[in-house]
Amino acid sequence: MSVEQTEPRRHRVVVIGSGFGGLFGTQALARADVDVTLVARTTHHLFQPLLYQVATGILSVGDIAPATRMVLRKQKNAQVLLGDVERIDLENRTVTSRFLERYTTTPFDSLIVAAGAGQSYFGNDQFAEFAPGMKTIDDALELRGRILGAFEQAELSHDHDERARLLTFVVVGAGPTGVELAGQIAELSRRTLKGTFRNIDPTEARVVLLDGASDVLPVYGGKLSRKARNTLERLGVEIQLGAMVTDVDADGLVVKEKDGSQRRIESQCKVWSAGVSASPLGKQLAEQSGAQVDRAGRVEVLPDLTLPGHPNVFVIGDMMSLNKLPGLAQVAMQGGKYAARQIIASLDGADPTHREPFKYFDKGSMATISRFSAVAKVGKLEISGFLGWVAWLFIHLLYLVGFSSKLSTLLSWAQAFFSTGRNEMAATEQQVFARIALEHMRADEPDGDSQNGESATKDGDRSAQAPAGQGRGGTQAAG
Ligand SMILES: Cc1cc2nc3c(=O)[nH]c(=O)nc-3n(C[C@H](O)[C@H](O)[C@H](O)COP(=O)(O)OP(=O)(O)OC[C@H]3O[C@@H](n4cnc5c(N)ncnc54)[C@H](O)[C@@H]3O)c2cc1C
Repeated sequence: MSVEQTEPRRHRVVVIGSGFGGLFGTQALARADVDVTLVARTTHHLFQPLLYQVATGILSVGDIAPATRMVLRKQKNAQVLLGDVERIDLENRTVTSRFLERYTTTPFDSLIVAAGAGQSYFGNDQFAEFAPGMKTIDDALELRGRILGAFEQAELSHDHDERARLLTFVVVGAGPTGVELAGQIAELSRRTLKGTFRNIDPTEARVVLLDGASDVLPVYGGKLSRKARNTLERLGVEIQLGAMVTDVDADGLVVKEKDGSQRRIESQCKVWSAGVSASPLGKQLAEQSGAQVDRAGRVEVLPDLTLPGHPNVFVIGDMMSLNKLPGLAQVAMQGGKYAARQIIASLDGADPTHREPFKYFDKGSMATISRFSAVAKVGKLEISGFLGWVAWLFIHLLYLVGFSSKLSTLLSWAQAFFSTGRNEMAATEQQVFARIALEHMRADEPDGDSQNGESATKDGDRSAQAPAGQGRGGTQAAG
């Protein structure tokens, strides 16, 4: 199917992705004399920074993932299309997306590509079956099921070794996501689940945080890394640094130490938060424009976030590589707004060759470690502990999209932080097994194409390797 054009027509902007870059870019075009088509593979805008709270039963999916078309309801120049973009044709200026078996080709005059990044296993995609990452709603719900399911199985087991394996949780990658998740699994076991089982003591669960780097939160460094580490240790998280994961299976993982020795950790529930791999659409764009992609699959864009020879095509957010900017929500949001401004300026007759380069305004970064404790870095200012946590709370509420999401999140936080309860502790068998079942089904299809559908960015380029610390995680898996 082709999206129909009517003459005379307005300038057509296609935006790929409904994440931070895509949504903020679209919204920045609200008053422009353009027609915007936002194509995304999910129906929602996802606030990824709070995914770990969905995984650990604090927040519901609705709190962090409002429906994109509801968010854009009042923006009359914007249309939302559900579809997985499979092909971008720069020469003919079209984007082809697929939803189930229906293909849609959407023409564009300007294009903003904000398809984000998936998890990278540094060429070891087989680890994903046993150590899922955390990039999507499905990932978070699967993890919730795996975490809570491990406690349930331990309650049923009478075997000492099996119980120990079930009650050992391993998080690979001590970047902000890994730190936040390890902290929350520890709090879940120490506070929320305390006294709820009869055969096991959930507070004795082992939570291990592993990284190949020599410190937790290496991007923060020095004092903040030390504070984060101390807080985690007080919560009972075992921190194992300088440790590279060389193998993962259903019952555990193998770790290589700096001295070359190997050891095994028995653990049923493993989580991977160690690296990122940009959307494979980046490679397509690079091939067609002559741009380069870096080792994590990010497109090396020009200073105005466009592709060489294509001043109308912007690549933003986690997909772009420019001046070593980190993969942060603010980079994507500011990139989306910048691209929108350049499109509007071009319509007003501005010469694209004289654009001001994109300038990132660093509003700081933060990670919460536990209830009432976070670390935050804003320029040279470093905040930690309760003050850091208040700053974290405020910033996250500020950027959650929609008043009802803010309100429901605030209520869920009040429940989780001031009592031992958590509102979202339900998990189903399908949440745990659907991904693997779907992957097996796809592998059994005649063309065996496991890159179609939900896991397309996850699988990514098998050779892509993000250097330690470049994503929100920081570990490199060896082997
Ligand atoms: C668990 C986690 C925690 C994080 N915590 C923080 C934090 O605390 N602070 C911070 O600043 N940053 C954080 N980040 C990073 C931040 O979320 C990203 O930098 C940001 O989301 C990037 O925005 P984006 O628009 O480039 O991509 P995304 O927000 O990932 O959006 C990509 C969009 O593209 C869509 N898409 C992908 N492929 C296709 C396709 N082929 N066709 C159609 N649509 C497609 C996706 O469905 C999605 O809508 C975190 C990330 C994760 C995963």
